[in-house]
Amino acid sequence: MRGVQGLIRNLCKRLNGLGRHDMVFAKASPASLAVKAASWSEPVQRFLKRCADAGNLEACYILGMIRFYCLGNRSGGAALLARAAVGGHAAALYSLAVIQFNGSGGAKSDRDLRAGAALCARAAALGHVDALRELGHCLQDGYGVRQDPAEGRRFLVAANARELTLALAAAASHRPFAALPLGVGGGGSGTIGGCPLLSDFGWSLPEAEPHPANLFMADWWASRGVQASAKKAANPEEAAAATGDSDGGGGELRLCSHVRCGRRETRRHEFRRCSVCGAANYCSRACQALDWKRAHKAQCVPMDRWLLAAGEAQ
Ligand SMILES: [Zn+2]
Ligand SMILES: [Zn+2]
Repeated sequence: MRGVQGLIRNLCKRLNGLGRHDMVFAKASPASLAVKAASWSEPVQRFLKRCADAGNLEACYILGMIRFYCLGNRSGGAALLARAAVGGHAAALYSLAVIQFNGSGGAKSDRDLRAGAALCARAAALGHVDALRELGHCLQDGYGVRQDPAEGRRFLVAANARELTLALAAAASHRPFAALPLGVGGGGSGTIGGCPLLSDFGWSLPEAEPHPANLFMADWWASRGVQASAKKAANPEEAAAATGDSDGGGGELRLCSHVRCGRRETRRHEFRRCSVCGAANYCSRACQALDWKRAHKAQCVPMDRWLLAAGEAQ
């Protein structure tokens, strides 16, 4: 009994220590934390930092992603992501998994597939869609985990089911008009705003909004002229322009070709390439699978056909 009271006393002391202002920062809503790349400034960064310091996990995550990927502050970014992950933030767990899988911020030898899969599993247990999808592909391929195709398929089905649930919830709460049709037919992968996975079934649902951190990163790179290359450029200059600036070592750091992701390589050739065309690059299996259904299926041209076309042009 005494132990419990001591615990409560300690807790109250800590809460008092937080102060009124810190409580406000700790409870800042996701909407107020959804900063835009165009309005990035020192005061905005200070605000996020203050929220993060007050224990706001969403702020830890967003600032962590911005520091890690956009500002190039790998250790500071990773520390914030770790804080969010320890607090049970699903997106942070998944993002740390991607970092571990790729050895981001370090060398290729720093990749830790087992750690990546373990983080991914924790995020998947919290219902994170990308994590469910990633883990499904890992299990199917035996990547970081013991290969188990049946279990992998189960996770992919779970990812789709979860996605459907979220899309329906979004349709019902935010876009009442979009919820009406569950439009059969006519959709196809090119339907604007349609959920690409459900288009397989002829349904047209609004695609889930990416996390604000992903929106920020995508806008950040777009405003700096860095674009993902999904199609092979016709000539080398175009290719150089499409991949943006270099890491100083003469090579380009590529953006994840899934346009709603926004992650960028931290070293050359960090991301996986589409093995068919070699032109698209992905931070994860989840992004690759999603982009295939969303856009790349229509853009992907086998490498030998490029070589053939190049030969004919000469
Ligand atoms: Zn990605
Ligand atoms: Zn391809």
